[in-house]
Amino acid sequence: MRPDRIEQMLRTIEQECHFTGNATGRSSLRPVVMEAMASVPRDDFVPSELKHRAFDNGALPIGEGQTISQPFIVALMTDLLEPQPDHTILEIGTGCGYQAAVLSCLVKQVISIEIIPHLANLAAERLQRLGYRNVQVMSGDGYQGLPEQAPFDGIIVTAAASHVPAPLFKQLKPGGNLVIPVGLPYMHQELLVVSKDRSGQRHTRSALPVIFVPLTRNRETGGEPADNTI
Ligand code: SAH
Repeated sequence: MRPDRIEQMLRTIEQECHFTGNATGRSSLRPVVMEAMASVPRDDFVPSELKHRAFDNGALPIGEGQTISQPFIVALMTDLLEPQPDHTILEIGTGCGYQAAVLSCLVKQVISIEIIPHLANLAAERLQRLGYRNVQVMSGDGYQGLPEQAPFDGIIVTAAASHVPAPLFKQLKPGGNLVIPVGLPYMHQELLVVSKDRSGQRHTRSALPVIFVPLTRNRETGGEPADNTI
Protein backbone atom coordinates (compact mmCIF):
# COMPACT_ATOMS: atom_id res chain seq x y z
CA MET A 1 0.00 0.00 0.00
CA ARG A 2 1.60 3.24 -1.11
CA PRO A 3 0.75 5.48 1.91
CA ASP A 4 2.26 3.06 4.47
CA ARG A 5 5.38 2.58 2.41
CA ILE A 6 5.79 6.34 2.01
CA GLU A 7 5.29 6.79 5.77
CA GLN A 8 8.00 4.21 6.37
CA MET A 9 10.32 5.99 3.93
CA LEU A 10 9.75 9.31 5.72
CA ARG A 11 10.47 7.73 9.12
CA THR A 12 13.72 6.26 7.80
CA ILE A 13 14.75 9.66 6.42
CA GLU A 14 14.05 11.21 9.83
CA GLN A 15 16.15 8.55 11.55
CA GLU A 16 19.06 9.01 9.14
CA CYS A 17 18.90 12.76 9.68
CA HIS A 18 19.01 12.24 13.42
CA PHE A 19 22.07 9.95 13.19
CA THR A 20 23.97 12.19 10.77
CA GLY A 21 22.87 15.56 12.15
CA ASN A 22 26.23 16.37 13.77
CA ALA A 23 27.97 16.13 10.42
CA THR A 24 25.26 17.56 8.17
CA GLY A 25 23.99 20.31 10.47
CA ARG A 26 20.48 18.98 9.72
CA SER A 27 19.22 16.69 12.47
CA SER A 28 15.76 17.28 11.03
CA LEU A 29 14.65 18.62 7.67
CA ARG A 30 12.27 21.45 6.98
CA PRO A 31 8.62 20.27 6.94
CA VAL A 32 8.16 21.55 3.36
CA VAL A 33 10.99 19.25 2.24
CA MET A 34 9.41 16.25 3.97
CA GLU A 35 6.05 17.15 2.39
CA ALA A 36 7.68 17.23 -1.04
CA MET A 37 9.25 13.81 -0.35
CA ALA A 38 5.82 12.51 0.70
CA SER A 39 4.12 13.85 -2.40
CA VAL A 40 6.38 12.55 -5.17
CA PRO A 41 5.53 8.93 -6.11
CA ARG A 42 9.01 7.36 -6.19
CA ASP A 43 7.52 4.15 -7.59
CA ASP A 44 6.75 6.02 -10.82
CA PHE A 45 10.46 6.81 -11.23
CA VAL A 46 11.94 3.29 -10.94
CA PRO A 47 11.87 0.41 -13.46
CA SER A 48 8.66 -1.64 -13.20
CA GLU A 49 10.50 -4.76 -11.96
CA LEU A 50 11.87 -2.74 -8.99
CA LYS A 51 8.62 -1.06 -7.91
CA HIS A 52 8.41 -3.28 -4.83
CA ARG A 53 11.66 -1.65 -3.63
CA ALA A 54 10.72 1.91 -4.63
CA PHE A 55 10.33 3.18 -1.06
CA ASP A 56 13.36 1.41 0.40
CA ASN A 57 16.03 3.82 1.56
CA GLY A 58 18.53 2.84 -1.14
CA ALA A 59 19.71 3.77 -4.62
CA LEU A 60 18.27 1.63 -7.44
CA PRO A 61 19.43 1.05 -11.04
CA ILE A 62 17.54 2.97 -13.73
CA GLY A 63 19.39 1.64 -16.81
CA GLU A 64 22.41 2.94 -18.76
CA GLY A 65 24.55 2.15 -15.68
CA GLN A 66 22.90 4.99 -13.73
CA THR A 67 20.85 5.12 -10.53
CA ILE A 68 18.01 6.84 -8.75
CA SER A 69 19.52 8.30 -5.57
CA GLN A 70 18.73 7.14 -2.04
CA PRO A 71 15.65 8.96 -0.63
CA PHE A 72 17.55 10.22 2.44
CA ILE A 73 20.24 11.75 0.23
CA VAL A 74 17.63 13.36 -2.07
CA ALA A 75 15.88 14.84 0.97
CA LEU A 76 19.13 16.01 2.56
CA MET A 77 20.45 17.61 -0.64
CA THR A 78 17.11 19.32 -1.16
CA ASP A 79 17.24 20.78 2.35
CA LEU A 80 20.90 21.84 2.02
CA LEU A 81 20.04 23.72 -1.14
CA GLU A 82 17.60 25.88 0.91
CA PRO A 83 15.03 26.20 -1.90
CA GLN A 84 12.49 29.03 -1.78
CA PRO A 85 9.21 29.37 -3.73
CA ASP A 86 10.59 32.07 -6.03
CA HIS A 87 13.80 30.18 -6.88
CA THR A 88 15.05 28.90 -10.21
CA ILE A 89 17.26 25.86 -9.63
CA LEU A 90 19.73 24.22 -12.00
CA GLU A 91 20.21 20.47 -11.59
CA ILE A 92 23.08 18.58 -13.24
CA GLY A 93 22.27 14.87 -13.65
CA THR A 94 18.54 14.41 -14.26
CA GLY A 95 18.68 10.59 -14.30
CA CYS A 96 15.07 9.44 -13.93
CA GLY A 97 13.90 12.92 -12.84
CA TYR A 98 13.08 12.12 -9.21
CA GLN A 99 15.21 14.83 -7.58
CA ALA A 100 13.89 17.34 -10.13
CA ALA A 101 10.30 16.39 -9.24
CA VAL A 102 10.97 16.85 -5.51
CA LEU A 103 12.52 20.26 -6.14
CA SER A 104 9.70 21.29 -8.46
CA CYS A 105 7.29 21.10 -5.51
CA LEU A 106 9.36 23.72 -3.67
CA VAL A 107 10.52 26.27 -6.26
CA LYS A 108 9.28 28.24 -9.23
CA GLN A 109 11.40 26.56 -11.91
CA VAL A 110 13.79 23.62 -12.22
CA ILE A 111 16.12 23.27 -15.18
CA SER A 112 17.79 19.87 -15.28
CA ILE A 113 20.58 18.71 -17.60
CA GLU A 114 21.24 15.02 -18.35
CA ILE A 115 24.19 13.85 -20.41
CA ILE A 116 22.63 10.59 -21.67
CA PRO A 117 20.03 11.65 -24.26
CA HIS A 118 17.89 8.51 -23.81
CA LEU A 119 17.57 9.16 -20.04
CA ALA A 120 16.86 12.84 -20.68
CA ASN A 121 14.01 11.96 -23.04
CA LEU A 122 12.55 9.36 -20.66
CA ALA A 123 12.71 11.77 -17.72
CA ALA A 124 11.14 14.63 -19.69
CA GLU A 125 8.30 12.36 -20.82
CA ARG A 126 7.78 11.00 -17.29
CA LEU A 127 7.77 14.44 -15.63
CA GLN A 128 5.29 15.72 -18.17
CA ARG A 129 3.02 12.68 -17.74
CA LEU A 130 3.06 13.11 -13.94
CA GLY A 131 2.24 16.81 -14.22
CA TYR A 132 5.52 18.43 -13.12
CA ARG A 133 5.13 21.34 -15.47
CA ASN A 134 7.80 23.61 -13.99
CA VAL A 135 10.69 21.27 -14.85
CA GLN A 136 12.62 21.69 -18.07
CA VAL A 137 14.92 18.81 -19.04
CA MET A 138 17.86 19.41 -21.34
CA SER A 139 20.20 16.88 -22.88
CA GLY A 140 23.89 17.75 -22.73
CA ASP A 141 27.03 17.99 -20.62
CA GLY A 142 26.09 19.93 -17.50
CA TYR A 143 29.69 20.67 -16.50
CA GLN A 144 29.44 24.04 -18.22
CA GLY A 145 26.06 24.79 -16.66
CA LEU A 146 23.72 26.97 -18.68
CA PRO A 147 25.36 30.40 -19.02
CA GLU A 148 22.56 31.78 -21.17
CA GLN A 149 20.03 31.27 -18.35
CA ALA A 150 22.33 32.07 -15.42
CA PRO A 151 22.51 33.15 -12.66
CA PHE A 152 20.61 30.53 -10.64
CA ASP A 153 19.32 30.77 -7.08
CA GLY A 154 20.73 27.32 -6.38
CA ILE A 155 22.58 24.56 -8.22
CA ILE A 156 22.49 20.86 -7.37
CA VAL A 157 24.78 18.27 -8.94
CA THR A 158 23.71 14.65 -8.53
CA ALA A 159 26.82 12.97 -9.97
CA ALA A 160 30.27 13.01 -8.36
CA ALA A 161 32.80 15.46 -9.77
CA SER A 162 36.57 15.42 -9.17
CA HIS A 163 36.35 19.12 -8.26
CA VAL A 164 33.80 21.94 -8.06
CA PRO A 165 33.26 23.03 -11.68
CA ALA A 166 34.19 26.72 -11.95
CA PRO A 167 31.39 27.46 -14.47
CA LEU A 168 28.78 26.26 -11.98
CA PHE A 169 30.06 28.43 -9.12
CA LYS A 170 30.16 31.35 -11.51
CA GLN A 171 26.49 30.80 -12.42
CA LEU A 172 25.35 30.86 -8.78
CA LYS A 173 23.65 34.00 -7.46
CA PRO A 174 25.17 35.69 -4.39
CA GLY A 175 23.44 34.14 -1.39
CA GLY A 176 22.95 30.85 -3.26
CA ASN A 177 24.14 27.30 -2.53
CA LEU A 178 25.79 24.76 -4.82
CA VAL A 179 25.30 21.24 -3.46
CA ILE A 180 27.68 18.76 -5.06
CA PRO A 181 29.37 15.42 -4.34
CA VAL A 182 33.13 15.67 -4.96
CA GLY A 183 35.72 12.88 -4.91
CA LEU A 184 37.05 9.85 -6.75
CA PRO A 185 34.95 7.54 -8.94
CA TYR A 186 32.82 5.46 -6.53
CA MET A 187 35.01 6.23 -3.48
CA HIS A 188 36.17 8.93 -1.04
CA GLN A 189 33.41 11.33 -2.00
CA GLU A 190 32.10 14.15 0.18
CA LEU A 191 28.85 15.98 -0.23
CA LEU A 192 29.88 19.64 -0.34
CA VAL A 193 27.79 22.73 0.25
CA VAL A 194 29.48 25.59 -1.59
CA SER A 195 27.92 28.95 -0.75
CA LYS A 196 28.43 32.25 -2.49
CA ASP A 197 28.12 35.09 -0.02
CA ARG A 198 26.73 38.53 -0.79
CA SER A 199 30.15 39.76 -1.85
CA GLY A 200 30.71 36.76 -4.15
CA GLN A 201 33.13 34.95 -1.81
CA ARG A 202 33.11 31.16 -1.72
CA HIS A 203 32.54 29.18 1.49
CA THR A 204 32.71 25.39 1.39
CA ARG A 205 31.71 22.86 3.98
CA SER A 206 31.55 19.09 3.85
CA ALA A 207 28.20 17.65 4.91
CA LEU A 208 28.63 13.88 4.61
CA PRO A 209 30.60 11.06 2.95
CA VAL A 210 28.54 9.81 -0.01
CA ILE A 211 28.77 7.60 -3.10
CA PHE A 212 27.42 8.85 -6.43
CA VAL A 213 27.90 7.74 -10.02
CA PRO A 214 30.63 9.84 -11.68
CA LEU A 215 30.05 13.13 -13.45
CA THR A 216 31.13 12.28 -17.00
CA ARG A 217 32.12 14.68 -19.75
CA ASN A 218 31.43 15.43 -23.36
CA ARG A 219 29.13 12.64 -24.57
CA GLU A 220 27.60 15.46 -26.50
CA THR A 221 28.35 19.10 -26.35
CA GLY A 222 25.53 21.63 -26.22
CA GLY A 223 22.51 22.02 -23.97
CA GLU A 224 19.91 21.06 -26.54
CA PRO A 225 16.36 20.49 -25.30
CA ALA A 226 15.36 16.83 -24.92
CA ASP A 227 12.75 15.58 -27.41
CA ASN A 228 9.96 15.97 -24.89
CA THR A 229 11.16 19.08 -23.15
CA ILE A 230 8.46 20.51 -20.95
N1 SAH B 1 19.13 13.15 -9.97
C1 SAH B 1 18.93 11.71 -10.11
C2 SAH B 1 20.21 10.95 -9.90
C3 SAH B 1 20.81 10.66 -11.20
S1 SAH B 1 22.29 9.70 -11.18
C4 SAH B 1 17.79 11.25 -9.22
O1 SAH B 1 16.89 12.02 -9.00
O2 SAH B 1 17.77 10.11 -8.79
C5 SAH B 1 23.36 10.88 -11.98
C6 SAH B 1 23.01 11.23 -13.41
O3 SAH B 1 23.98 12.20 -13.82
C7 SAH B 1 23.11 10.09 -14.41
O4 SAH B 1 21.90 9.93 -15.09
C8 SAH B 1 24.23 10.52 -15.35
O5 SAH B 1 24.03 10.13 -16.69
C9 SAH B 1 24.18 12.03 -15.20
N2 SAH B 1 25.42 12.73 -15.56
C10 SAH B 1 26.70 12.33 -15.39
N3 SAH B 1 27.54 13.27 -15.85
C11 SAH B 1 26.80 14.30 -16.31
C12 SAH B 1 27.11 15.56 -16.91
N4 SAH B 1 28.35 15.96 -17.15
N5 SAH B 1 26.07 16.37 -17.27
C13 SAH B 1 24.78 15.99 -17.07
N6 SAH B 1 24.43 14.80 -16.52
C14 SAH B 1 25.42 13.97 -16.13
